[in-house]
Amino acid sequence: MAGERRPPMGRNDRRNQKPKSKAEIEKAREERLKEQQAKALEDWRPVTELGKKVKAGKIKDINEALKSKILEPEIVDLLLKTKEDILNIGQAKGKFGGGKRRAWRQTQRKTKEGNVATFSCMAVVGNEGHVGLGYGRAKETLPARAKAVRKAKLNLQKIRMACSSFDCTCGEPHTIPFIVEGKAGSSRVKLMPAAQGTGLVAGDELKKILRVAGIKDVYSVTKGKKRTTLNMAKACIDALSKTMEM
Ligand SMILES: [Zn+2]
Repeated sequence: MAGERRPPMGRNDRRNQKPKSKAEIEKAREERLKEQQAKALEDWRPVTELGKKVKAGKIKDINEALKSKILEPEIVDLLLKTKEDILNIGQAKGKFGGGKRRAWRQTQRKTKEGNVATFSCMAVVGNEGHVGLGYGRAKETLPARAKAVRKAKLNLQKIRMACSSFDCTCGEPHTIPFIVEGKAGSSRVKLMPAAQGTGLVAGDELKKILRVAGIKDVYSVTKGKKRTTLNMAKACIDALSKTMEM
């Protein structure tokens, strides 16, 4: 027995495999993430009354869930296939006040020990006809983003969509039903219905919100301090929420 040679295990097997390309690795990672999320949802133990009903399958429609306040982000995960995006609210450091736009806003607190940095982040989630905006702060970047996404899910609200541009008769809900105006701080955002094929006539950060909300065509006018993305985004959500009035 001692002289018998075993075929080398493991190493040889690995050598026969082709090296994975970057795209494949990325894909595998995404799949793993999805699996993890699915598992987390399955293991999720709801705490609130609403959460229990959703988990048990008694509530299947997000609009029914939205009648009461959503306190658990998993409710939204279960009921809705959401898209998400991160808004660039921060700025990298640069000389003379200039710096590249960045997803994380970095602020500092002065203490005896030195400067303590805090990161904040703004996320928008939604699908066709729903949108939510969230703001999160943490000592590091990634937890800040996680908090922002979580809050965005909790802030989810319904918006009304229609085809109501005067020169469009397609009848599909691709724009907002009427002119709405929202405000936050000094920022003002006015959204106007547009004909099909117009696209989103808005700034880049506003476009992200409108795209996630499922709006395809809209004109916009902004006033006030437009560089404050934080307030611009809030104003845009304020405007969108007004589509439900009337
Ligand atoms: Zn139309």
